[in-house]
Amino acid sequence: MSNKIRAGIIGATGYVGQRFVALLENHPWFELTAVCASPRSAGKTYEEACGDRWKINVPMPEYVKKMVVYGTDDIESFCDQVDFTFCAVDMKKDEIRALEEKIAKLETPVVSNNSAHRWTEDVPMIIPEINADHAQLIDAQRARLGTKVGFIAVKPNCSIQSYVPALTPFLGFGIKQISVCTYQAISGAGKTFQDWPEMVGNLIPFIGGEEEKSEKEPLKVWGTVAGDHIELASNPVISAQCYRVAVQEGHTAAVSVSFEKKPTKEEMIEAWNNYKSYAYELGLPHAPEHFVQYINEDNRPQPALDAYFEDGMGVSVARLREDNIFDYKFACLSHNTLRGAAGGGMLTAELLYKKGYIVAK
Ligand code: NAP
Repeated sequence: MSNKIRAGIIGATGYVGQRFVALLENHPWFELTAVCASPRSAGKTYEEACGDRWKINVPMPEYVKKMVVYGTDDIESFCDQVDFTFCAVDMKKDEIRALEEKIAKLETPVVSNNSAHRWTEDVPMIIPEINADHAQLIDAQRARLGTKVGFIAVKPNCSIQSYVPALTPFLGFGIKQISVCTYQAISGAGKTFQDWPEMVGNLIPFIGGEEEKSEKEPLKVWGTVAGDHIELASNPVISAQCYRVAVQEGHTAAVSVSFEKKPTKEEMIEAWNNYKSYAYELGLPHAPEHFVQYINEDNRPQPALDAYFEDGMGVSVARLREDNIFDYKFACLSHNTLRGAAGGGMLTAELLYKKGYIVAK
């Protein structure tokens, strides 16, 4: 009998769920003990439920193939098998909100990839390297839900996970305005080119709801804990455009930024290359040693070359230069299904375990 913490995945058959399955193989602290998907997949083995929908670039691990999939219509039985669960499902927002709250009330912590609870006041939205202290909100949330151990924690949208890490070292310079255009991979919609052939050689200048998330979510991440909620950061003003592009993995962002007090280029590059990661210092298994790297070549970062920096958990920045309207402009990139989704969720669960919020039942 292993003494690891028992982890579950809801939405295990999806793109993000598959990443969680791969990340949990041989995890030093967590062991995958139950998988869950829609009632359509319930009762099938994981291998049967995925069928020809295995989409990620590593083979399906042997250890999961014969696990029998639970359906969300029998969430109680699933929760009996786990100490906490990840959740990444394609369902309506109000259904996700109700499902996640039900799971928390079954005394099962939920680390969610879904956006449904990101604006619930006492739900922390965490990037462990940036705002680990927001985990304190869990105490107020438990009081509201009437739970002892159950709670919901979320990670922010994948689109913000390159420029928010890249700009965090400069909060002390007073960031006034950010204009950002993101170029987002098709895996962000859970797709491959095989199931979205219209994207081959194409670009779509619209991703539903993404621009609003990209403008608002950084203000919660950069906000401060005020009892049972987060006081949002009052600046910067952010204007975002989000485009879907013909890339499989890796969201790029073109950023222009202005400051109250303009740092020098040298200060910025040094801050990026010396960014100390709190998550790495805590010894979290999926924390990258280098959270951000600055690359000197003009034709970088590129998804094909840089998305897997630090096993997909690091952010790559390049092309820092003066801007005619703002102070500076630069390009940055992060892996959307690792840093932006399952890897970020895993790191958050590791933080919450290390801090004592996730425990064996
Ligand atoms: P996906 O590949 O379409 O997978 C969807 C999953 O949801 C499948 O496991 C599916 O199970 C399950 N599901 C569908 N309907 C359900 C229902 N009625 N009850 C229970 N489970 C149901 O989607 P994805 O790309 O992994 O995204 C999942 C979530 O993560 C979404 O909220 C998305 O916004 C978020 N997210 C995705 C990314 C990304 O880069 N892809 C990044 C950040 C956040 P069946 O196989 O049984 O249908």
